[in-house]
Amino acid sequence: MTSTCDVLVLGGGGAGLRAAIAAVEADPDVRVAIISKVYPMRSHTVSAEGGAAGVIAADDSLDEHAYDTVSGSDWLCDQEAVEAFVREAPEELLRLEHWGCPWSREPDGRVAVRAFGGMKKMRTWFAADKTGFHLLHTLFQTSLRYERIVRYDEWFVTRLLVDDGRVRGVVAIELMSGRIETITAKTVVICAGGCGRVFPFTTNANIKTGDGMALAFRAGAPLKDMEFVQYHPTGLPFTGILITEAARAEGGLLLNKDGYRYLQDYDLGKPDSRPVLRSMELGPRDRLSQAFVKEAEKGRTVDSPYGPIVHLDLRHLGEDVINAKLPFVRELCLSYEHIDPVRELIPVRPVVHYMMGGIHTDIVGATPVAGLYSAGEAACVSINGANRLGSNSLPECLVFGARAGRAAAEYAAEAPDHDDAAAGHATAAQARDEIRRLEHELQRRDEGREPISTIRAEMQQTLEEGAGIYRSADSLAKAADKLHELQERYARARIDDHSRTFNTEFVALLELSCMLDVAESIVHCALRREESRGAHQRTDFPARDDQRFLANSLIHRNADGSMRVEYLPVTVTRWPPGERVYGR
Ligand SMILES: Cc1cc2nc3c(=O)[nH]c(=O)nc-3n(C[C@H](O)[C@H](O)[C@H](O)COP(=O)(O)OP(=O)(O)OC[C@H]3O[C@@H](n4cnc5c(N)ncnc54)[C@H](O)[C@@H]3O)c2cc1C
Repeated sequence: MTSTCDVLVLGGGGAGLRAAIAAVEADPDVRVAIISKVYPMRSHTVSAEGGAAGVIAADDSLDEHAYDTVSGSDWLCDQEAVEAFVREAPEELLRLEHWGCPWSREPDGRVAVRAFGGMKKMRTWFAADKTGFHLLHTLFQTSLRYERIVRYDEWFVTRLLVDDGRVRGVVAIELMSGRIETITAKTVVICAGGCGRVFPFTTNANIKTGDGMALAFRAGAPLKDMEFVQYHPTGLPFTGILITEAARAEGGLLLNKDGYRYLQDYDLGKPDSRPVLRSMELGPRDRLSQAFVKEAEKGRTVDSPYGPIVHLDLRHLGEDVINAKLPFVRELCLSYEHIDPVRELIPVRPVVHYMMGGIHTDIVGATPVAGLYSAGEAACVSINGANRLGSNSLPECLVFGARAGRAAAEYAAEAPDHDDAAAGHATAAQARDEIRRLEHELQRRDEGREPISTIRAEMQQTLEEGAGIYRSADSLAKAADKLHELQERYARARIDDHSRTFNTEFVALLELSCMLDVAESIVHCALRREESRGAHQRTDFPARDDQRFLANSLIHRNADGSMRVEYLPVTVTRWPPGERVYGR
């Protein structure tokens, strides 16, 4: 069966919902569909805790937000994109307010803002520590006002259809029935989120398997800056559950095994530094995660069954502040660690949190493939460069989701209709191929083959060991070899469930294939970048090298499946490369 729309948004998270709303608002005739492998409110955006950055305070300015973002990115971002971002972020956040988002407020009624890592002014809007829930809910209920937005909830996209260099639609599985369908579209906007699950310890939900990145990559769109993977310094050790940066913004301290605030030893300021916003616990995530590794090397971390940990201390904040500003942090600690942060220290370690890299787009979300757009964590526009600042991602989803939605609607209005016979024929042939492939995959039988779980676990371990917080040519080359082996083993792996109704094992099989492709792109890009910048730290090339690498990496997939990396110089508008200074 085939269905048709003009703009097909792949993903019902913050970026996808914002893109869909922008598309219908831009054009009264456009037919929009949102397709999502989970019900939209279960997208990862829902779990964002800390907040969304946008200049609103009287003592703040757009230039300061831009500068913090540029220096935080270690100068690898596109400064034109950053300028658009900081300008439009407050507008988007206010729009959300008008759509009903319950932002936390000061006693006098003004929108409250909190400090966040690497932001030198208070500019992070929040809804207690459940910002993502409220933001997503606001977008979701706004999207319901538009009958022209059709939804495919719990449908899994397996392939982009591209003919003659143009996107034609997707093939997807309806998870409830196992039915495989073609949905043709004039444009596809990929808002399919990140890929943290390629690593073993991550704050990311199970669904974050890089599907959108892999689908675009396979369809001929390059991925950008895949070597830049963000570790968040404070995840719970076993589950990887995030303890939001807001905990440190409210005054939480990081202590080593001696109860010492070790960050003062890593050029991140001193306990008495002024202003406090620039120092220590509120340094950027890359620096804090790197300091943790150094501290472990000095033997000053605490051993735990899940590797070394340090402690996050909130006790001095008191029960009232914790309940008012960080209720979710308390709930998570009680449920998952059986500790109460009002009285006890929280064990934490760096965990993979966010992907700076993604599908290469321009400033309106267009990729090099005609009709293919992308926004949100799946995309790399890039405002995050080598290191994203906390609370920039949610507004990025809004600003660039809206831009991509509008641009896609415009493109669809000009694109020829679907009844172009030759194109329709080629698209139908591709769709038939994909349906045959999926039917074949579903039948992978036992015959002594290995299950997919071992391949997935080995892939995650390989990435942590080979492409973790610190990397080297040696560790990355080993990881590349191992991933090659895992791709071969994947081709022979089995699944045990061959049924059609909600076959989660089948979905896991398809997701693993996406993760392996994404993992290979991370490792290849990391191997090529012979410098250290932001989240990419090479022990064999410890310095930043602007001469060779003030450029975004673009990884392409060749027709034979091999990969090729090119570099695209970054756009510098007003802030030439400088030193990243914190704590001073
Ligand atoms: C625990 C946590 C806390 C965070 N806190 C903050 C914060 O406080 N501030 C901040 O700025 N950022 C935060 N972030 C980052 C931020 O939340 C994410 O980067 C952002 O929400 C991503 O939104 P998205 O719309 O791009 O993707 P997602 O919200 O991940 O949505 C992806 C969508 O794509 C769909 N999809 C994926 N693959 C397929 C497929 N094959 N077929 C069909 N559908 C598919 C999914 O169903 C889903 O609807 C946090 C992240 C985490 C993990």
